[in-house]
Amino acid sequence: MSEKRVYTFGNGQAEGNAQMRERLGGKGANLAEMNLIGIPVPPGFTIATDVCNEYYEVGQEKIVEILQAEVNAAVAHVENLMNSKFGSTENPLLVSVRSGARASMPGMMDTILNLGLNDEVAEGMVRKTGNPHFVYDSYRRFVQMYGDVVLGMKPVNKEDIDPFEAIIDEVKAIRGIELDKDLSVDELKDLVARFKKAIKEQTGNDFPTDPMEQLWGAICAVFRSWMNERAILYRKMEGIPDEWGTAVSVMAMVFGNMGETSATGVCFSRDAATGENLFNGEYLVNAQGEDVVAGIRTPQQITVEGSRRWAALQGISEEERAAKYPSMEEAMPEIYKELDAIQTKLENHYRDMQDMEFTVQDGKLWFLQTRNGKRTGTAMVKIAMDLVREGLIDEKTALKRCEPQKLDELLHPVFDKDALKKAKVITQGLPASPGAACGQIVFHADDAQKWREDGHRVVMVRIETSPEDLAGMSAAEGILTARGGMTSHAAVVARGMGKCCVSGAGAINVNYKNKTVEIEGVVYKEGDYISLNGSTGQVYAGEIPTKAAELSGDFKALMDLCDKYTKLQVRTNADTPHDAQVARSFGAKGIGLTRTEHMFFEDQKIVAMREMILAGSVEGRKKALAKLLPYQKSDFKGILEAMDGCPVNIRLLDPPLHEFVPHDLKGQQKMADEMGVSVEEIQKRVESLAENNPMLGHRGCRLGITFPEITEMQTRAILGAACELKKEGKDPKPEIMVPLVGILYELKQQKEVILATAKEVFAEEGIEVEFEIGTMIETPRAALTANRIASEAEYFSFGTNDLTQMTFGYSRDDIASFLPVYLEKKILTVDPFQVLDQNGVGQLIKMAVEKGRSVRPDIRTGICGEHGGEPSSVKFCAKIGMDYASCSPFRVPIARLAAAQAALED
Ligand code: PEP
Ligand code: MG
Repeated sequence: MSEKRVYTFGNGQAEGNAQMRERLGGKGANLAEMNLIGIPVPPGFTIATDVCNEYYEVGQEKIVEILQAEVNAAVAHVENLMNSKFGSTENPLLVSVRSGARASMPGMMDTILNLGLNDEVAEGMVRKTGNPHFVYDSYRRFVQMYGDVVLGMKPVNKEDIDPFEAIIDEVKAIRGIELDKDLSVDELKDLVARFKKAIKEQTGNDFPTDPMEQLWGAICAVFRSWMNERAILYRKMEGIPDEWGTAVSVMAMVFGNMGETSATGVCFSRDAATGENLFNGEYLVNAQGEDVVAGIRTPQQITVEGSRRWAALQGISEEERAAKYPSMEEAMPEIYKELDAIQTKLENHYRDMQDMEFTVQDGKLWFLQTRNGKRTGTAMVKIAMDLVREGLIDEKTALKRCEPQKLDELLHPVFDKDALKKAKVITQGLPASPGAACGQIVFHADDAQKWREDGHRVVMVRIETSPEDLAGMSAAEGILTARGGMTSHAAVVARGMGKCCVSGAGAINVNYKNKTVEIEGVVYKEGDYISLNGSTGQVYAGEIPTKAAELSGDFKALMDLCDKYTKLQVRTNADTPHDAQVARSFGAKGIGLTRTEHMFFEDQKIVAMREMILAGSVEGRKKALAKLLPYQKSDFKGILEAMDGCPVNIRLLDPPLHEFVPHDLKGQQKMADEMGVSVEEIQKRVESLAENNPMLGHRGCRLGITFPEITEMQTRAILGAACELKKEGKDPKPEIMVPLVGILYELKQQKEVILATAKEVFAEEGIEVEFEIGTMIETPRAALTANRIASEAEYFSFGTNDLTQMTFGYSRDDIASFLPVYLEKKILTVDPFQVLDQNGVGQLIKMAVEKGRSVRPDIRTGICGEHGGEPSSVKFCAKIGMDYASCSPFRVPIARLAAAQAALED
């Protein structure tokens, strides 16, 4: 096969370029590009990413054979440009071997420096440089790194430090010195010998002395590091496919450890945390790359300003700073000037914030890497908008570059970063609702409320939550549950509230009776502090301080840009005026779903609701419903008012009635007393409501069909509230939605009840309000017969939670029990309740939209399941031409950005 696998670069020439990142990895492509734009980069070559896959197919021996000729030629190319020779004892060339995938995976894979050394080459280098300390420092670094990365040296016990570090510590202890750089030449030589001995003892093999053998070992080790545990985990988190593979870049070594005129560092063209346009970074004199990140020596700042900020945080005076920790700008002003010019050039070239690595060898600056820098959500927005203002990118590019999901960070309180570093993770659950929360543990909703009223911050810990816990959830800073997936009650409600929630933390053992939770053998009691990170699913012991997220003007500017380009509108799912207002402030253009059931749980309402459920006759039910009516009306009025002028889609009662009755004896007794009946009677009724599959049982429009008086009461409440508002000069725009329809006649009959009631209400009020009647499409049958259903529906709202449940046949509340295995075995790649299954559920939706339009061309279509706030799902909805997506208030900005991106991708 004559396919090219190796691409050289050096001296301003390159066989690759920045566009070739798929083939050369980000690092390889940018090393080539830097050559092409005249930035000093040591010569080298890159082995393509596909070769990594080939390595996994054919193994080490065969891949060496396949690559042999090309690598030999590439090494010769580097030798020519460097005027030195790999393995020579007169004029040796050393190389570094680095990983680099298409997507940046910082620190996840391996690197080997100073490769090509053996005893003879080392002596040759001493003769050439006259600097034995530098040579043996490099040699001991090489043996150590090669031992760890290529030969797989491990600590003897899991808890121990790296075996080589242990040896270094021994030697330093004998001499009473602290820093590696203070080791003498003899000590360094001694370390090399001891390292090799340790390698022989642990692996049974001699350290390879042939530089070419070393090189092949290192290249294959980098391929292997693609499959190390942390790289696999990182890819899973970032959604990077395993098939991509890593490239390997081999470069001539330049040395930052040659003495006081040498250095190495890392720098950013802007602040990655805040987005400020502030060049910043760290460097170390007389050091090599890993020293900067390893944290053994304290790196110094690159700029004076950065150095002053750093000193202020450390409480170091300006005099001490300038004397002991001078910035590069002060200590190496010429090099700094060059560095600053190149970072500006690179940022202008890539038109994005750059994260760069450099080395200064004896007063000469070399760049080893550049990439678009990772950044926080805040920095992402600020940098994008700044770059637009600076004319470096246009508005569309700014929108395309921002990651919708990252906007989340701008909306929720976050843990203090320094405090987080010291905190201990005690268990892990699903990141159900983002943000940070810390408080004292409580186990019951009423306790949460009580503690809150007494001025405590609490975290509610539950096996699972039910709608009855709503008030407790609202009082808590965050919610932790042992069971439940991403669309479990706790997760949905918490997201709606913008409240931090970790759900499905299977390793926690909740004991309601003792008010304890056992996690990994440790028992936490009511009142103990616990902290949750709802963005990662991590749970910490103790109290970690949080700070409120800041909304900057750039965030609004970005959102305004979304409106300029989007076609898909964004509404919100909201059940309270407060949520409606929050969502409106985030730019929601209306309400896509109000779940009326959430309104029944406050004290008096639940009593009347239970009376209604337990009534044995239509009359009894009507009497109880009459009590509920004023409550419902005032709730709807609040929401319609908060969304004045915007559409508000209110759904008729949906969940099975048994969710509203108490299941414990205490509650049943209380209810019996309130209603003046025996507890046995209550129990009998509760039992009669029990169902084997409540999700497929007596719920949705089946309730309204069997008890039309419920639909009647709710219609009265909605339209009555709207009439009152209209009389007050407001502009209410109600929509009434029938849930869980599967058969046209369900909708038809409910519609008749609604229309008849509307007539009555308008006659009584002496005023009319325009309203629409639509339906949820959330059963497969509704999707399959959407053309028929459209004859009666003015709009469709896709309930993708139920539609996913019924299409897959997965219970939305129980998926946590098998999802991890499905993900592990790659049967599923994502949780279908989080990310819309475009190939299955999505096809049903697409078909239903088309069928609906075939009968009613202007039928409005929207999505209101949890997927309405998930970027890839929102994009799918936009691409099939839906009119709006509706999501919880704190996801509105995310959906807006995803929708705008979809329009631009079109
Ligand atoms: C749905 O099923 O997607 C939906 C929005 O309704 P609920 O989650 O209330 O069942
Ligand atoms: Mg539903």
